[in-house]
Amino acid sequence: MKVYLDYHSTTPCDQLVLNDMAHYFYDQFANPSSPHDFGQHARDAVEKARERVAKLINAEPEQIYFTSGATESNNIVLKGLWLKRITSYSSYAGITFITEPAEHNSVLRCIESMSSGSKVCHENRAGAHYIRIKGDGNLDIDQLEELLARQFTFPVVSIMAANNEVGTIHDIARIGRACKRNGAYFHCDATQALGKVPLDVKELDIDALTMSSHKIYGPKGVGALYLKSTDLITPLFDGGYQNTITSGTINVPGVVGFGRACKILTYNQDENKRIEGLRDLLLSLLKQKIKGLHINGTMENRLPNNLNICIDDVPSEAIIVGMDDISVSGGSACKGSGLKTSHVLEAMRVEHPETAIRFGLGRWTTEEEIRYAADRISEVVSEVRNAKDS
Ligand code: PMP
Repeated sequence: MKVYLDYHSTTPCDQLVLNDMAHYFYDQFANPSSPHDFGQHARDAVEKARERVAKLINAEPEQIYFTSGATESNNIVLKGLWLKRITSYSSYAGITFITEPAEHNSVLRCIESMSSGSKVCHENRAGAHYIRIKGDGNLDIDQLEELLARQFTFPVVSIMAANNEVGTIHDIARIGRACKRNGAYFHCDATQALGKVPLDVKELDIDALTMSSHKIYGPKGVGALYLKSTDLITPLFDGGYQNTITSGTINVPGVVGFGRACKILTYNQDENKRIEGLRDLLLSLLKQKIKGLHINGTMENRLPNNLNICIDDVPSEAIIVGMDDISVSGGSACKGSGLKTSHVLEAMRVEHPETAIRFGLGRWTTEEEIRYAADRISEVVSEVRNAKDS
């Protein structure tokens, strides 16, 4: 048996998604910007997808911009805000980013490139503050509120809805309220939370929200950015076609697939309960079989499909690289093929991050697979420990 438990890294495409996409590679292949009838069909399909994405987060369709994924969405909004400041205010950018050290690297690196230590000249350099992450993965929101009370010229808060390694769901409602109260711009990377946590951009006072299709059973290379307004953002790409914020010919099959994936989530509320039950079963089986197991992150406000554990004296490499029938991860796959220490676990001050394993369950995970995975992992743990003792 081969068991895939790395759904945070990516998900397989749903067959229903694939079926919808197929038409737009061949018989409905036109460029949606073309004025002719073929183009109109493609345009209609893109607009239908836009409505489906918007519906999932309670946005207006015209507030949705299609991108190549979450990395691009994060860069468009964060760098676009900064670019607007440095082109509109010639002597002083006056933008301050407030984020936290366990964000995805596409947010962290992006902010670093504009702030201290970057090659950007002094007057254009953005400020950057990092709020503390607690040992259980929760954020110190009191610290965020204290920071916001300092009344920066233009504060931009970028906090993810749920962490991609330990699955902690952050209190986005409270963060949104704090931003609104203090006139801060609020960007939320919802890549891992979409479809698992209710996200209503209006109710949560979110100014910009990042989404990615391949985490929700849609195709790779497609994502979206919700923008409440484009007023404060300068586009990163000049070109034309799509609209002012993004450019280039739209990936119609990809966008259609993403739209379908969103529609499935809109009507598939029971899925999370089933997956959470399997995740809890996995944890209880592992706990029964393995001594010296520690859970990373709180179990209280956690993505239903996430489990992250450390096992005493067993480097995660033994399980991740050493087993060819179970696919799990040690940190995030975005670090390349090397198993580098996770910056998320470091931020949480986890004692032995080199022993961490992340499990991500999904739509096609079965109880049989969970039981098999628990057996196999406990076998490998015993082997590693016995080899050490002998
Ligand atoms: N943000 C988060 C929280 C993620 O988990 C990921 C993917 N690991 C990304 C951004 C980047 O997503 P994409 O592959 O769509 O660029």
